[in-house]
Amino acid sequence: MMDVRGRTVIVVGLGRSGVAAARLLLERGARVVANDGAPRERLSAAAAALEAEGAALALGGHDPALFERADLVVVSPGVPSFPALDEVARSGREVIGELELASRFVSAPIALVGGTNGKSTTTALTGAMLARAGLRTFVGGNFGTPLAEAVNDPWDVLVLEISSFQAERVPTLHARAHALLNITDDHLDRYPSLAAYADAKGNPFERMTPQDVAVVPLGDALVARQAARGHARVVTFSASDPRADVAVEGGAIVDRAAGARYPLDRITLAGAHNLANACASAALASALGAPHAAIAEALARFEGLPHRTALVAELGGVRYYDDSKGTNVGASVAALSGLREAKAVLIAGGRDKLGDYAPLVAALRERGRALVVLGEAADRIAAAAGGVLPIARAGSMDEAVLAARKLAQPGDAVLLSPACSSFDMFRDYKDRGDAFVRAVRALEKAAGEVAS
Ligand code: ADP
Repeated sequence: MMDVRGRTVIVVGLGRSGVAAARLLLERGARVVANDGAPRERLSAAAAALEAEGAALALGGHDPALFERADLVVVSPGVPSFPALDEVARSGREVIGELELASRFVSAPIALVGGTNGKSTTTALTGAMLARAGLRTFVGGNFGTPLAEAVNDPWDVLVLEISSFQAERVPTLHARAHALLNITDDHLDRYPSLAAYADAKGNPFERMTPQDVAVVPLGDALVARQAARGHARVVTFSASDPRADVAVEGGAIVDRAAGARYPLDRITLAGAHNLANACASAALASALGAPHAAIAEALARFEGLPHRTALVAELGGVRYYDDSKGTNVGASVAALSGLREAKAVLIAGGRDKLGDYAPLVAALRERGRALVVLGEAADRIAAAAGGVLPIARAGSMDEAVLAARKLAQPGDAVLLSPACSSFDMFRDYKDRGDAFVRAVRALEKAAGEVAS
């Protein structure tokens, strides 16, 4: 356990995890300075309350003088680095993240889940498997509850989702098992290159020993190179290649090393990409000691998280899926290619991340019935897919769903998987997914009225 009594710690970024870190530090006797670039008027109530709890608030910027006095700095993942932070690090003082800080106050073994896509689903499913095994299981990190909010509870195991930003600042975090699900381009506004993004994601592998397990996709050289930075035993997974250690084969997920077989007809999750997540989850849970029966039960019950290839309705022989969390090209390619329907009308667009749409166009060539574009990225996506399939433009989600219904044929899917973030037209991906669900419900109602 870390001793922070009497030490001056600056917490930078007062979102939920920053507030949780500040509270934890106060409780453990540190002198806490809570710092945020925003002025007081824009602070959440929880952040403002830190003052009454004993922290000094330093708002409206990152005054370099403040950082000269710091023994330790805890930085939120959302805050890009600035010169005073680099100076702290240069002088040999630690700059860490909330996840790293919290991990110094817990002793239960850690299963870590990273990757560009599928983290939340895999984190939740792995947690469900371990909980079924009767272990007191914390599920959180980048998704849901920050670990700093939970260090005082008696956990048997911690399942933590980790983002690339968090992975930049976890110098001692030690995982018993770490899955890195995939690396495709995203967040290239914060990283100079895909290689730099991959290097950030791979940091936690460095401290792993031969007693630990690295769970990686079979045949992915970029991820394999990251796993090789440490000494963990490598376990591969794949939903398409039966040669993986945990693989889909003959109508089941087969975990060769554990001698376990989980029949697909007893797995509830939709989409081939989710079978990959299920394979990775089984590998992680098994590494943390979950027996086969617990893994099988969790696989049978887990219906997936909302807004991740979630089936909304079936209407006129067409199934409507909400994959609003598909916020980058890799995610939407996986969602489209993973559908069980042979053809889909894809609704895509939103705030453009200026990535390459070519992989999406390739997937549309195979599986697309038509494309409906909306939002700021509409023109770029339409230009990339021009001549490949019919394209319609929509000014709102309601219009997009109406257009998709007209273009879909019985047996098709309509898939909202935007390949973009939502901030041009919506509060967040949930708000966007909810708008899609409302539009589909309105179609359902209209169809019901026609029928009756
Ligand atoms: P994350 O937490 O990494 O964003 P989620 O589980 O929330 O991951 O899934 C986000 C989106 O990523 C899904 O809506 C789907 O479009 C896509 N996705 C899920 N799993 C995978 C996977 N294994 N590979 C590629 N894309 C995936």
